[in-house]
Amino acid sequence: MFQSRIASKVILYAFFFLLFFPCFTLSAKNIPSYDSLTELNAKFENTKWHGFLRFLDAELGHRINGMSEIKKYFHRFGYLDKDSLDHDDEISNLNDIFDAKFELAVEKYQKNLGLHKTSKLDKETMQSIMSPRCGVSDHSHTLSHVMQHYEYFNGEPKWTRNTLNYAFSPNNTIDFINSSDIKLAIQRAFGRWSEVIPVNFIETQSYSTADIKIGFYNGDHGDVYPFDGVLGVLAHAFSPEDGRLHFDSDEKWSVDFNLQKSKHAVDLESVAMHEIGHILGLGHSSVKESIMYPIISLRSKKVNLRLDDVAGVQALYGSNPDFNFTSFLESEHSSGWSIDLHRRSSSKWVTTFSIVGLVVSLIL
Ligand SMILES: [Zn+2]
Ligand SMILES: [Zn+2]
Repeated sequence: MFQSRIASKVILYAFFFLLFFPCFTLSAKNIPSYDSLTELNAKFENTKWHGFLRFLDAELGHRINGMSEIKKYFHRFGYLDKDSLDHDDEISNLNDIFDAKFELAVEKYQKNLGLHKTSKLDKETMQSIMSPRCGVSDHSHTLSHVMQHYEYFNGEPKWTRNTLNYAFSPNNTIDFINSSDIKLAIQRAFGRWSEVIPVNFIETQSYSTADIKIGFYNGDHGDVYPFDGVLGVLAHAFSPEDGRLHFDSDEKWSVDFNLQKSKHAVDLESVAMHEIGHILGLGHSSVKESIMYPIISLRSKKVNLRLDDVAGVQALYGSNPDFNFTSFLESEHSSGWSIDLHRRSSSKWVTTFSIVGLVVSLIL
């Protein structure tokens, strides 16, 4: 009787060992720390990419069940293109091995998102991957201005007119925010871009003829970029001169965090600022503080253009004659950007801007 109980226990342990062994082969030293796991778990509980938490601290050579899902994420946002896959390794049939090609993709991601290069799915990288973000791919166009961080779409498309009309879809909207509040938030966002470039945005009621068409959609909505419910992808927009700007209607959109109490609340104006950058022709930036950084924090407002955004958009459209670069630089300094300016002091743009600023201050 006693022996049979021991035998059944051994069988039970063996069963669980065999059950988990093939799907989790990380060596003991690579098991993520309890603190990292609990912190990320608390932060991203029940959010879109929460399941990715099990890949924390994975690195070259590891095999973890379901890793193909995170590879799909990397492919979707421009990090595992066809060229970096084996011929027989189609996107629909990705394997679960952290191989050399995936390591390159992780390194590229860390570089593009301004993260520390560790070549593994460390805490900082996982936090970035699991955060809500823009649906536009991070890979736009490699530019000659290597010292800057902004990017454009392929071919550097831009609008050829200086006055652009925008309209809201009469059918694709949300009902939990007053439509006049939505319009005011979007108007403010357009206004901030207008302040720095000689382009005007005017609201029109004629949706069908508008240059920029704004709407709230959920799931599959007719373009090839379906939305994914709460968090994950928040919005996307198309490059010039397409003009489509889509928000995921499933998000907990907010124009006032006192009214929108959800912990998953996303500031509409902040996301609009970012998507209008795409509408104008900007890709993603690796500068975390910039509007064109692809990730946004929940329950936070980020509506002020940064030097990287201004440099990028002015390189396309020129400067608004009323734009005062000196006072802009002063506000950048007062908001703690002096350190970053110093770090990028060899940048052609920063140098040019500094000289212009100096000349302007001398004249004044
Ligand atoms: Zn974006
Ligand atoms: Zn869309």
